[in-house]
Amino acid sequence: MINEARLVDLFLEMCRVNTPPRHEGALVDRVQGILEGLGLECVRDRAGAHFGGDSGNLIATLRGSVSGAPPIFFSAHFDTVEPNPGVQIVVDGGVIRTDGSSILGADDKAGLAPIVEGIRVIREEGTPTGDIQLLLTVCEEVGLLGAKHIDRSLVFARMGFVLDTGPPVGTVVNTAPSQDTFDITLTGRPAHAGMEPEKGISAIQVAARAIERMQLGRIDPETTANVGVIQGGMATNIVCPEVKMRAEARSRDPEKLAAQVEHMVEVLHEAAADFGAGIDLRIERAYDTYRLTEDDPVVQIAQAAARQIGLDTWLRPGGGGSDANVYNAMGIPTCVLGTGMRSIHTHEECIEIADLVRSTEWVVAIARTAASAGAPAQGA
Ligand SMILES: [Zn+2]
Repeated sequence: MINEARLVDLFLEMCRVNTPPRHEGALVDRVQGILEGLGLECVRDRAGAHFGGDSGNLIATLRGSVSGAPPIFFSAHFDTVEPNPGVQIVVDGGVIRTDGSSILGADDKAGLAPIVEGIRVIREEGTPTGDIQLLLTVCEEVGLLGAKHIDRSLVFARMGFVLDTGPPVGTVVNTAPSQDTFDITLTGRPAHAGMEPEKGISAIQVAARAIERMQLGRIDPETTANVGVIQGGMATNIVCPEVKMRAEARSRDPEKLAAQVEHMVEVLHEAAADFGAGIDLRIERAYDTYRLTEDDPVVQIAQAAARQIGLDTWLRPGGGGSDANVYNAMGIPTCVLGTGMRSIHTHEECIEIADLVRSTEWVVAIARTAASAGAPAQGA
């Protein structure tokens, strides 16, 4: 049985530990202590050293009793999108939120707590499972850095479940886009804006022309683009010599992404040429797309487990990247499971206690289902 009070206590405790990216260590220590107490083998990798974090990822392994069952993993991330030291948590009518002055951190502690409570329940009840790994990552919110630097030699699971998207619990995200990120520097020429503006080249005008000609926002059902940052200029009396911009394009279709990126590059170069400005353009693949179907065992197990515990279940495309993009690129089929986290990345972030319980039930059901799905038939 799931111990609701214990689960809520664990979730609240996790939310009270301030874990902005690169500062997850205190919570990693705490979770490692709990998991070791439950008999899991825990290893901290060295991922944090790559990006100045105070901790690596925590990889924990529960040795199962069902031989022949495919090893699976559950994953969630420790870091939250912004700091929330001294968070004031309000529990009211079965809903957990803050007093409105900070985020709660349900993204992704609404994934972490059900995973840990699920493992407790499996241990207490002696639930028959195969080997289960937990890939608990750091620095997800700032570019999936923990997952990208995970020590792959520690990971032997053959399919995975990432608890890191919104409700309803029962939702399975089976596809997500690739994203390309642009770092753009436009170089004009400074001049006195009053005395000899004709000698200058305004990088702001170049940026304006490029952005005006750029197709942005929702391009089609699976493609989006955005200019998110623009910086430049010193004073009204100086023709602006430099503008820096950051932009992105995403699509679940690689050809559409390539076409959108090409369009953005073309428009930027045209605008620079129009004014005789310089342009420096760096484009990086932030993460790669993946696409699973209802025929993939990882999706079948997630959905069968959901139905067993009375949850409605359906597939939905994701609009953003998650650690699942990285695991799929590593060759481990991984889907994302809906949790109860609502209004994430805002001060209105909240979660229903009932959803924490449902997520935990789903974790246990997935472990059980994977073991029975993958075990060799009797006498075979
Ligand atoms: Zn998240």
